[in-house]
Amino acid sequence: MNLFSEVEELKGIGPKTAETLKKYGIRTVRDFFYNLPRDYENFEAPTTISEIQPGKVVIKGKIDKISTRRARKRNLSITEGVISDKTGAIKVVWFNQSYRKSQFSPEKEYYFTGNYELKNGRYSLISPSAALVSDIDTSAGLNPIYVAHGALKSHDFKRLVNASREKFAEIPDFLPTVKAGVRQKSLFEAHFPTSIKAVQAARDYLAYEELFELILAARLNKRENDKLKASGVPFELEKVKDFLAGLPFELTKAQKRAAWEIFQDMEKNTPMNRLLQGDVGSGKTMVAALAAYEVALSGHQVALLAPTAILATQHYENLKRTLEPFKIAVALLTGATKDKKSLKENIRAGKIDLVVGTHALLTDDTEFAKLGLVIIDEQHRFGVEQRQKLALKSPAGLAPHLLSMTATPIPRSLQLTIFGDLDVSVLNELPKGRQPVKTTILPEIEMREKLYPAILGTVGARNQVYWVCKAIEDNPRAETTSVKARASKLQQLFPKLEIAFLHGRMKPAEKDEIMARFAGGKIDILVSTTVIEVGVDVPNASLMVIENAESYGLAQIHQLRGRVGRGQVASSCYLLTTGDAAPSRRLRELEKSSDGFYLAEVDLKLRGPGEIYGALQHGALDLRIASLSDTKLISRAQKDVLEFLKNPENMVKYEELRRIIAKYQQITTLN
Ligand code: ADP
Ligand code: MG
Repeated sequence: MNLFSEVEELKGIGPKTAETLKKYGIRTVRDFFYNLPRDYENFEAPTTISEIQPGKVVIKGKIDKISTRRARKRNLSITEGVISDKTGAIKVVWFNQSYRKSQFSPEKEYYFTGNYELKNGRYSLISPSAALVSDIDTSAGLNPIYVAHGALKSHDFKRLVNASREKFAEIPDFLPTVKAGVRQKSLFEAHFPTSIKAVQAARDYLAYEELFELILAARLNKRENDKLKASGVPFELEKVKDFLAGLPFELTKAQKRAAWEIFQDMEKNTPMNRLLQGDVGSGKTMVAALAAYEVALSGHQVALLAPTAILATQHYENLKRTLEPFKIAVALLTGATKDKKSLKENIRAGKIDLVVGTHALLTDDTEFAKLGLVIIDEQHRFGVEQRQKLALKSPAGLAPHLLSMTATPIPRSLQLTIFGDLDVSVLNELPKGRQPVKTTILPEIEMREKLYPAILGTVGARNQVYWVCKAIEDNPRAETTSVKARASKLQQLFPKLEIAFLHGRMKPAEKDEIMARFAGGKIDILVSTTVIEVGVDVPNASLMVIENAESYGLAQIHQLRGRVGRGQVASSCYLLTTGDAAPSRRLRELEKSSDGFYLAEVDLKLRGPGEIYGALQHGALDLRIASLSDTKLISRAQKDVLEFLKNPENMVKYEELRRIIAKYQQITTLN
């Protein structure tokens, strides 16, 4: 069996199924085996109601008192009932599933699988799936649940995996660092679970695999990077002093240290690969400006990439103001730029020293005369491959130095392992005089009493408000208030105020327009999704409201609230919680601490490594199985990678591994 053959090689997968699978990224036989269940239902040991805890549960019980009603919100039907077993009873709720009303017989027993959670101040089982006890073969024990992909539902995946049951025996070993057969056994256990304990062990191994790949890729990237050549940028002490003398403030110690580390890196003939990490408001842009200044002095060009046009424009204005007095030509290149052609000609001719723009700047046909430094703000991915492309663009075949900036705090232990290909500078200090954002947790029901006066006070003092919502559109199941609904509610409450909303699905031009109006003080309350999270700077905004605060990570809320507290006035942040449960310990940390690194550590600890099922940490690192809190696994994987790399033959011998890490290598994950 070749793991890299197309999926249709597998039994039971015809062209149509294959097409769907491929649409969802399952292209090869290997992808198919690694498409693990997202969760497992445990019918063997259902939770008794007297012992129920919030979270995912399976309850075995009878259901009674079912009724359906219409909610005030349009198009929402709510079906409620009571589930009971010998030990007690709980409420159950389904949204827009009115067929549930006539699905059950009151004398029969069912398994209900779903989340037991707080809704409108009461704990209920929310939209559970239900199956007749007599229909379930409990000898099967754990029931794997796959993420549905289009027409392919969980049970289809079960069927398909079952058709390939025999094939698991042919899965070859993968890593030299574990016993023969472990991989095969683990994948089999994940798809055909025998016990929670065995599934956990299997997932531990698969998480280890993933970490091994990631760490190995980072190490190899470092090696590749060290082979590239760059042109050294001489350090010009006197000129840097001139520059600093012209600033309206003194650099913080941390800024000076970071700038110094960057200058030292750039003097070398190997390209710098440095991550500048600093809490929101710590002044990363100024450090970047210093780096750009030095590079421009040496006759090289600088490209600064921002994730959005809004941010690019903001950086451009900032840097233009700071750098043009020193005869450094700064330009902005975004989708909205009018005369792109002549600007690009000027870049090619070397007449522009610093170009600020979005990512398109590098993939485009933009060519530089002498690109010396690439700065990436809040940009998460940029790899050796892209850098090599840039080197090809520059006539001498030299690669530019690279400075990445992020406000996402990465705990130290992770920096050294997973991010092993980066050097890191940390801005662990805020500029003087910055007042921390006063943070208050507020149950939604107290909004009218406590929050509305604060809003009126803020707007009355000619300051502005951010209001962050979870969802763009109303979603009856989630019961969160959407950006649009919240904006119109606020407008009804405060008819005289200027209220607008912003979300990621709006057209870039529309977003820019709204942000520009907000920055210009024309909007009093901006209701938005987390699109404002990244770097936007409106010093006049001094109040932030975050709805459904419990649903965010601490680091994320910390980053969000960093959008206020940038000006002269004292700023505050309200974290709204639903229901009447006491706020979590986690959330309370935000009231106490304004240290982003500390908060990230807390999140890491409190989330704990126990999260084997359910919300596995996707996102940031694209880890599918492992979690960043698996510190033991991380250090084991790191040790093993170093051992593995000692033998140069290994990279030749382990072909599958080589192919797998190639994808990580193309894109170094910075964040
Ligand atoms: P971030 O690290 O979040 O990107 P910025 O670079 O946007 O932070 O800086 C936030 C604000 O602080 C800007 O208005 C900037 O001009 C100002 N600033 C930067 N460094 C200092 C300093 N050393 N002293 C006072 N203000 C500073
Ligand atoms: Mg910034």
